[in-house]
Amino acid sequence: MKALVYNNEFKNKIEYTERKDPVIEQNSDAIVKVTLSSICTSDLHIINGFVPRANNDIVLGHEFVGEVVEIGSNVKKLKIGDRVAANCITFCGDCYFCKKGFINNCQKGGWELGCRIDGCQAEYVRVPYADMGLSKLPENVTYENALFVGDILSSGYFAAQMCEINNNDSVAVIGAGPVGLCSMMSARHMGASNIIAIDINDYRLKIAKENNFADFIINPNRENVETSIKEITNNIGADSVIEAAGDKSTFEMAWKIARPNANVGIVAMYEENQVLPLPLMYGKNLTFKTGGVDAIYCDKLLNLISESKISTDILISKKFKLSDIEDAYKFFKYKPDDCFKIAIY
Ligand SMILES: [Zn+2]
Ligand SMILES: [Zn+2]
Repeated sequence: MKALVYNNEFKNKIEYTERKDPVIEQNSDAIVKVTLSSICTSDLHIINGFVPRANNDIVLGHEFVGEVVEIGSNVKKLKIGDRVAANCITFCGDCYFCKKGFINNCQKGGWELGCRIDGCQAEYVRVPYADMGLSKLPENVTYENALFVGDILSSGYFAAQMCEINNNDSVAVIGAGPVGLCSMMSARHMGASNIIAIDINDYRLKIAKENNFADFIINPNRENVETSIKEITNNIGADSVIEAAGDKSTFEMAWKIARPNANVGIVAMYEENQVLPLPLMYGKNLTFKTGGVDAIYCDKLLNLISESKISTDILISKKFKLSDIEDAYKFFKYKPDDCFKIAIY
């Protein structure tokens, strides 16, 4: 088959090349024919050498949907021909952490696909613990509708869950990129009424507002964010803050714009340490939660998509064929302001 392989020794680190078809290795495996995949910023982190757990010479990619073409003898939930969405996390379902729902720390899994084992930017992919990691698409959900369920939509939902949102809460979301927008959709679904999108990219803010993901938008290049949040929230501060941007300035913003006793959910990935000025914050009584996504919501999210309660379709900004995936990477690396995600067909 054809696949996009990451290897240190390649001139450009990645190459669209010939790879052996995957086969069933464990009886809980399934082989999926990939119909659509996406490129994630974490794929670029691997290529740039920022992911210590990544193996060399692997097929990249962990965000995909497809059709089951082969199953191991112990796969119970799935059959050949099923249309499925894949979880970005591989998890056994049976260890200490999985039983508590903390699948990101599965003792036998974690971020495996496209990191430690061959991923989905290929014609076929082997999925371990297939009954856990694959969710069947409801009849009325297309592959496009479901593409982001197992990674960025799960991450956004996870962020909103960390904030324990109540009806009519104000929720400030820092970063209106793909995960930020998914957080807003999820917060809305959980009952938030004043959602505030904060970003320096006006196109992203426009999309957030036009699609009713956000009620208010703030561009920190033009406005003082703390002042604007105070105005929107009657001088209280945000009931919850989701930090989905990942910069020193946005980390500071997160605790500053939170009201006392707020939850602050951090889903951003930072490239350096961040500092909490505890003496200054004393008495504000904040709860900070950080997260690599425990993506246990795939079935639930697919149902919400099926019921038209959530839609991530707008995030597909550009489409490429698998054979053009090297161009897709170049595009994604320097993507223009108006690109959220790309889909590889
Ligand atoms: Zn990802
Ligand atoms: Zn486990």
